[in-house]
Amino acid sequence: MRTILTIVVGLVVAAGVAAGVMWMRQSQATQAAARSESEQEGPEVAACNDRLKAIYSAWKRYKDDHHGATPPSVEALIPKYIKDPKELVCPTAARWEKNGHPLDSGNITIDKKKYSVTYGFKWLAAGYARAEKAEGSRAPLVVCNAHREAIFRAEHPHAAANAIYNEPAKEPGSGPGAILVVRTNGETGTLQPNEE
Ligand SMILES: [Zn+2]
Repeated sequence: MRTILTIVVGLVVAAGVAAGVMWMRQSQATQAAARSESEQEGPEVAACNDRLKAIYSAWKRYKDDHHGATPPSVEALIPKYIKDPKELVCPTAARWEKNGHPLDSGNITIDKKKYSVTYGFKWLAAGYARAEKAEGSRAPLVVCNAHREAIFRAEHPHAAANAIYNEPAKEPGSGPGAILVVRTNGETGTLQPNEE
């Protein structure tokens, strides 16, 4: 009887140790994936910043040509102010899409053809007038959430696609996984968590 008990206890301990080792390996793999994601994002963040500036410039030129009226849609900017709709996909999101794991995106239609877009066009969103009233020219005009979503997904490979929206933003809102922004005055930077 005592032998059987010893064997059972032994098996339970062995199973526990094996589960612990597997958990550790998995968590190391997840950390490595997050590190690699953050390294790959370095140059993409710089390219994304340029895209945000280009979208700002398109928005501004449209306004200058239309007596101060803001573009009523993203489509209204193409092709005169933004030549290629592919410029409206963040380079990090383009890489994830290429690897078969698309990040959150929306669609626009140009000449009956659908193109995905991954930027948040705040001037078209409900609440922009309120933000402009409160923050003036510092109101966020366009944001990129792709870097934040990509880091989150690398860290949580099995999380539901929309789980990122239940995650509180990290403090401070900079470094890998930050939300990039171009403001109404053309300044680029990162969005602080209290600005969302
Ligand atoms: Zn981006």
